[in-house]
Amino acid sequence: MTDKNKKSMRGDYQAIFEKAYHLMDEAIIAGNCGELCGYHCCRRNDVDGKQLGMYLLPLEYEYMQCAVVTDYDLHSRRQYNLPPKIKKSYYIYCHLTEGCLRDHRPIQCRTYPFEPHLENGAFSLVIEKEQIHGCVLIGRNSEWRQAFIDGVYNGWLELMKIPIIKYNIEYFSKERIAANNIMTRYTSNGFDNPISPATIAKVKSNITI
Ligand code: SF4
Ligand code: SF4
Repeated sequence: MTDKNKKSMRGDYQAIFEKAYHLMDEAIIAGNCGELCGYHCCRRNDVDGKQLGMYLLPLEYEYMQCAVVTDYDLHSRRQYNLPPKIKKSYYIYCHLTEGCLRDHRPIQCRTYPFEPHLENGAFSLVIEKEQIHGCVLIGRNSEWRQAFIDGVYNGWLELMKIPIIKYNIEYFSKERIAANNIMTRYTSNGFDNPISPATIAKVKSNITI
């Protein structure tokens, strides 16, 4: 690849990330959902005291976060469950006490509780059964703002234009299917099945505020 092509590719990826951040900048419900749950998904430790962070997408550090994030570990494929083509992944730690990085918050904060999913070439957003965070709003999905859902959906369609991100989504989608870890999915036709009262109770019981 020539230097000129590399430069143009960098410009394309930057524009894709910026557009996705913009699309995925909608609040899940009207108001501040963090006040409902004590910012449960922003906490830095799990119930056992283990430090919790979040993964950036491939290339997200390089294109969007390198000037913002200072506290992170670099996870290598040899030590962690990373897709074969991804040799290292940035695992960052949030410092909520110093304030949310609202304008700079990473894709993982923008998309949660949805995960991107690709199955037989078809794209959807899914909510997983296995929840680290157990968002209190999962059982109240009828209250989610359509602007949030559309923004996340369209943001991922943008991000999938970057081949390594599409590859990453495909890899984790296969794992999710193998583990039967889909609670519900959202396509352009809406949610495929309502979230059951039993699931809602389970999600609520996961929350320790
Ligand atoms: S767990 Fe859900 S309700 Fe709580 S801050 Fe996170 S997204 Fe908002
Ligand atoms: S960047 Fe903001 S939304 Fe994301 S984990 Fe930190 S405090 Fe929470």
